[in-house]
Amino acid sequence: MTKVLRERDSMTCRACGNEERASEGYPCADCGTFICLPCNLRGVLRCRSCAERLEKSGGEKAAGVESTVPTPTPVARPES
Ligand SMILES: [Zn+2]
Ligand SMILES: [Zn+2]
Repeated sequence: MTKVLRERDSMTCRACGNEERASEGYPCADCGTFICLPCNLRGVLRCRSCAERLEKSGGEKAAGVESTVPTPTPVARPES
C-alpha cells in the first residue's frame, strides 16, 4: 500500500474556505465543524456561520463599544 491518502486528510475550513489538513485543524466552538490551524492561530474559534449568528444575536462582546455609563460626579472634592 503506497497510496497517499492526501484527499482523505484534507478538509475545507468553514471559516476561510481553504483546504487544510484535517488532522491539524480544530472543531468549531459551537457546531464542531472543521476550522483550519491558520484560522485558529488567528483567534478564529468558530466557523463563519456560527460567527455570523453570534454577531447578529449580540455576541459575547461588542468590540470597541463601551457601555454608556453616565459620568460619575467626583465625590472627593478639595474644599477650600
Ligand atoms: Zn481557515
Ligand atoms: Zn460552527
